[in-house]
Amino acid sequence: MAKEYDIVIVGGGPAGLAAGLYTARSRRRTILLERGVTGGQVGLAATIENYPGFPDGVNGFDLAEAMQRQAEKNGMETACAEATALERAGERYLVKTGDEDYLAKAVILTGGAVYRKLGVPGEERLTGHGVSYCATCDAAFYRDEEVAVVGGGDSAIDEGLLITRFASKVSVIHRRNRLRATAILQERAFAEPKMEFIWDSVVTEILGKDAVTGVRLRNLATGVESEMAVSGVFIFIGQEPCTDFLRGTLKLDETGRVVANEWMETELPGVFAAGDMRANAARQAVSAAGDGATAAIRADQYISAIFGD
Ligand code: NAP
Repeated sequence: MAKEYDIVIVGGGPAGLAAGLYTARSRRRTILLERGVTGGQVGLAATIENYPGFPDGVNGFDLAEAMQRQAEKNGMETACAEATALERAGERYLVKTGDEDYLAKAVILTGGAVYRKLGVPGEERLTGHGVSYCATCDAAFYRDEEVAVVGGGDSAIDEGLLITRFASKVSVIHRRNRLRATAILQERAFAEPKMEFIWDSVVTEILGKDAVTGVRLRNLATGVESEMAVSGVFIFIGQEPCTDFLRGTLKLDETGRVVANEWMETELPGVFAAGDMRANAARQAVSAAGDGATAAIRADQYISAIFGD
């Protein structure tokens, strides 16, 4: 027997937590399903400096925990579960998970995204042995050691700067000769004496038997291959949306993100998509929360219109 709710939210990052706050306050019986730890990518950030209202920054875990507490205080329920399928069931939707199934009048998809892998030899084998995707989790292991950071976006620079608090040197390896990261982060990066930049270069192999000892590089401008000794490699080359379970059910864009309009409405009536898994999202914690609130307001209106309550 499926458990019945007005609204099922799939994913517990800022989009899902904001949506849950709003739908719970609209007195819609709401459950949020999260397969891991609530907070999503925000929960792993050491400090978030661009979430309005925190002039001194806020620890990501603390922010996520406060969002969850606020939503639950208003009546949102949470369950640890991974959605595996979304199916139409009359005028409602069935969200299937490994354990329970959930029947909902409306569904808000806020599953976010997970880090992208480089796909080079050594990466998988040495993950957890020098290859990392989370500086907040692993930077402290590299006190006084030299590490590489791969990528040129906000994540690479933000997390790279965090690693400089521990490591003796952080080499940022970027495939172009210009960073993508926000200007204020670039200013900090170029002013950081422990950070150096290896431009126009890609990692072609991560070296080491039982632990990382270095990387093999190729300069894309010259074609020259080289090796660099490091004891850690942090990879921040963007994210992949968590939408595999929606393939064939909903329209996705060429990057695998769910297509939705400005009200977060997908092509399926009563199914909304918000946050990093939505096509064309700004991919910021604050915009994800805004997306979630918008989806919640529209979902509430949808339930009133279709179910008359
Ligand atoms: P991103 O903005 O997509 O940047 C990914 C970086 O990795 C780019 O520099 C890209 O190079 C490079 N890259 C991609 N694929 C690669 C590959 N196969 N090999 C080598 N390099 C590759 O991802 P992100 O930095 O994780 O940021 C994602 C979103 O989260 C953004 O919207 C960002 O603003 C947001 N965010 C914000 C903050 C903050 O504000 N502090 C912190 C973290 C994340 P190119 O530049 O050549 O494309």
